[in-house]
Amino acid sequence: MAETHHTDMLIVGAGPAGYTAAIYAARAGMQPLLVTGMQPGGQLTITDEIENFPGFAQPVQGPWLMEQMREQAEHVGTKLLYDLITEASLKQGPDAEGYFHLKGDSGDLFLARTVVIATGAQAKWLGLDSEKKYQGAGVSACATCDGFFYRGKDVAVIGGGNTAVEEALYLTHHASTVHLIHRRDSLKAERILQKRLHDNPKIKVHWNRSVREIIGEGSPAVVTALELTDTQDNTKTERLAVDGVFVAIGHSPSTGPFRHEVLCDEEGYITTQPGTASTSIPGIFAAGDIQDKTYRQAVTAAGTGCMAALEAERYLTEKKYGA
Ligand code: FAD
Ligand code: NAP
Repeated sequence: MAETHHTDMLIVGAGPAGYTAAIYAARAGMQPLLVTGMQPGGQLTITDEIENFPGFAQPVQGPWLMEQMREQAEHVGTKLLYDLITEASLKQGPDAEGYFHLKGDSGDLFLARTVVIATGAQAKWLGLDSEKKYQGAGVSACATCDGFFYRGKDVAVIGGGNTAVEEALYLTHHASTVHLIHRRDSLKAERILQKRLHDNPKIKVHWNRSVREIIGEGSPAVVTALELTDTQDNTKTERLAVDGVFVAIGHSPSTGPFRHEVLCDEEGYITTQPGTASTSIPGIFAAGDIQDKTYRQAVTAAGTGCMAALEAERYLTEKKYGA
């Protein structure tokens, strides 16, 4: 039976941004309701070792870290609901009692006086079965996160945009050779990045090449090579020995039902006012990767989650709502 939930703060998303917003909001007595979506714990649940989240001297497992955040959020008073927000009516503003109306996939209605959108972004993947098979065993979408594991090894980066070039440059701090594989004969990346790329003796660019297959060996199997196709002559293939491959072909923000409700940029990232978590609609806040195409780190997501909760608390106080 569908239910109607009333709350001063609805948090949409259960990644570092959503859980951090929940921790701050709950401790401020706002009794937040957090809707988890399809991936409770967010992107970090698909990665092994996290070495750059402050507070842990030793690497921690992504799923474990997110379990800790969930427990902390619940411990201080957050209510979690395993649902997916499918509809949101935000742009016309709140109703006479100050509530925005949202709907879950379950049919539940959510009436919220403030909403924190923390739905994250997803790395785009090539779509190969072998890419899925070797995720965490040589296939990654985050050089800052996983580059460290390739010290002295050979890696490949796929893509020709700013992200691919930045990932390739970053990886030269760890790997001995970085192969940049691009499907065309020119890069989309900014000129200054291209210059740095071409000036770096550790980087070898493979023009007009796409990845046909990711090859792995051993037990457990790990990436050992790529099978490349010449994009100008599909009959030509070649094998390139590598220990890891970083897919850097762009990210898609999970803006979903919010896309036409708050101001977004042309790629679908929610626009926040500089230095704040405020969106184009008063009372609606955005935190984490959904509003960040520059840093995309767990710690920055958590930081903006904190900002969103503090700003939501101020909004409720100004409106004279809340506990
Ligand atoms: P996410 O973690 O993406 O969480 C989004 C949440 O929103 C999910 O719970 C999802 O279920 C929910 N959601 C989406 N749509 C809806 C909806 N309609 N209704 C309800 N809920 C919804 N960063 C680091 O700092 N260090 C690392 O080592 C690191 N390693 C990484 C490894 C990999 C493989 C990947 C992919 C990323 C890695 N990152 C790392 C980046 C980091 O994971 C992200 O920056 C961070 O998770 C962003 O947090 P977020 O809360 O904004 O969103
Ligand atoms: P992007 O600019 O969209 O570039 C994606 C690249 O991946 C393109 O070169 C594209 O090829 C390639 N690609 C896409 N799909 C592919 C596929 N299926 N197979 C092989 N290659 C594929 O993405 P991005 O580099 O992640 O950048 C996203 C946004 O963030 C951009 O606005 C960028 O400027 C910004 N950004 C800025 C900085 C910075 O300012 N320092 C850093 C990172 C990102 P084609 O070239 O053929 O299209």
